[in-house]
Amino acid sequence: MASPAWKGLSTVPLSCPLSAALWQALLTRCEATSESVEHIVRNALADYLQVEHATLFQVSTAGALVEGLYHGEVLIGELREHGDFGLGTFDGLDGEMVVLDGVFYQVRGDGTVHEAGDAVRTPYAMITRFPTGEGVALGDCADLAGLQAQLDPLRDSQNVFYAVRIDGEFRSVVTRSVRPTPEGVPLVAAAAQQREFHRNDVRGTLIGFWSPGYLQTILVPGYHLHFLSEDRRSGGHLLACAGGGLRAQVHRVADFRVSLPESATFLHADLTRNPAEDLERAEKPTRKESGS
Ligand SMILES: [Zn+2]
Repeated sequence: MASPAWKGLSTVPLSCPLSAALWQALLTRCEATSESVEHIVRNALADYLQVEHATLFQVSTAGALVEGLYHGEVLIGELREHGDFGLGTFDGLDGEMVVLDGVFYQVRGDGTVHEAGDAVRTPYAMITRFPTGEGVALGDCADLAGLQAQLDPLRDSQNVFYAVRIDGEFRSVVTRSVRPTPEGVPLVAAAAQQREFHRNDVRGTLIGFWSPGYLQTILVPGYHLHFLSEDRRSGGHLLACAGGGLRAQVHRVADFRVSLPESATFLHADLTRNPAEDLERAEKPTRKESGS
């Protein structure tokens, strides 16, 4: 038997007759919530057929990481069940995690990129299922702030999550990667030891999330992006970038699930301090970049 025409496609166009009353109800909902017809139909079908919506799954909290809780709690093999797209770090702060198209990459402190096996553990990660799409063309981005300013209009709220993917040729990319750090050494101190990597004229992908500010004790608020080059030879936590002709895909995610560790260290850690200031210092460049 020949394969059906939709086999292998990630999205399938659907057309079917609707009653006037149903169509009117759909339009009323669109107007009330500003959601697209596609969005409502997809969600309604997923509910009816009990297919899971995209969920953002997070391991531990940024606050715990800031306090030096680097012990790997969740296996990559387990994390894989929650999505094919995301970021994080590895057991003992052994490099940056970049998850793209279902492959888990580990960008080590020396800048080398390896595939991470299922038996490796993570102390902190954010992961979701990313729908395949074309994306929208961005204008020239002189720097990271310019890129973020072009991403902002692609978000329709300040209060939910967005998974962000940007593909193309970058004029310049600056990344960093953390090195293995003993448990208990604060993230700010660990980040001060980080190495930065510069690449020019490199094709690759930015992978990450925009997260609402009201959740700043458990995650990095605003944009948090990691980079992976197309040749899979460089990557890491993004500090700066510039480029023209990039394409962006931004998807809203409103289901958020956090898996909190049950280790003795986590259970007894003092996580009452607001980590925002330390995160700001740890996630930004350690010195000023010359130019862009
Ligand atoms: Zn990062």
